[in-house]
Amino acid sequence: LIRFDKVVKRFGDNTVLDHLDFSVRKGEHVTLIGPSGSGKTTILRLLMTLEQVSEGVVWVGGEPLSHERKADGSLRPASEKYQRQARKKIGMVFQQFNLFPNMNVLRNITEAPVTALGVPKPEAEARARELLDLVGLGDKADAHPTQLSGGQQQRVAIARALAMKPDILLLDEVTSALDPELVAGVLDVLRDIARTTDITLLCVTHEMSFARDISDRVLMFDAGRIVESGPPSQIFGEPREERTREFLRAVL
Ligand code: ATP
Repeated sequence: LIRFDKVVKRFGDNTVLDHLDFSVRKGEHVTLIGPSGSGKTTILRLLMTLEQVSEGVVWVGGEPLSHERKADGSLRPASEKYQRQARKKIGMVFQQFNLFPNMNVLRNITEAPVTALGVPKPEAEARARELLDLVGLGDKADAHPTQLSGGQQQRVAIARALAMKPDILLLDEVTSALDPELVAGVLDVLRDIARTTDITLLCVTHEMSFARDISDRVLMFDAGRIVESGPPSQIFGEPREERTREFLRAVL
């Protein structure tokens, strides 16, 4: 469903992703781990088209996301309009929940489906209430974000991302801005979603126990390259690379 083909991303002289190749199958749950600055968030930002590749091509669902096809079939860097359309199947939850502060919870969730997808309001609201139940906030539809704890706000952000019915959900350190006692509730919701839906998940996380139980595959990054890739039993149980062992010793 996702394919990075020799992707290079530079910021000035800083090469953040260095000829990166990897793919994610439909329905797969893949976690990206690695030291700070190794390029994990940049991968998610390229998929959200918040950044553009320097070289290489990002593919989603067999179509280029970073590029669009010219009449002769060759590729040229994609326009913003093309990318807006192409990324519709991708949702993202950020470290900072970024809820709309002036809208209540229900409206936070219905706004994008109504305005961007043209879903009729009653249908969007019914779906939003189902999603609020799913994230354990069925009684908070009328609350304002400021009246919610960080963990509750993050669960609203998850419901809001799911309201767009994405095929792919990107999670960027979704618990790192939360007080420790609120982390478990958010991770439980995500585990449920991973178990009960066929959504494709790509997560950047520092929560190794979460990575261990949600992932089909873990990719260990360092300096813009994949050092090691494998099922969580391998990465956490019998890592093959010294760099992985060193990283895990530091974080576990
Ligand atoms: P962390 O775990 O700390 O979030 P990460 O592995 O997600 O780290 P990235 O956020 O992808 O790392 O950043 C990789 C590198 O790219 C860093 O050196 C960062 O300073 C640089 N970088 C990221 N975004 C920009 C930008 N907009 N302009 C310049 N440099 C950037």
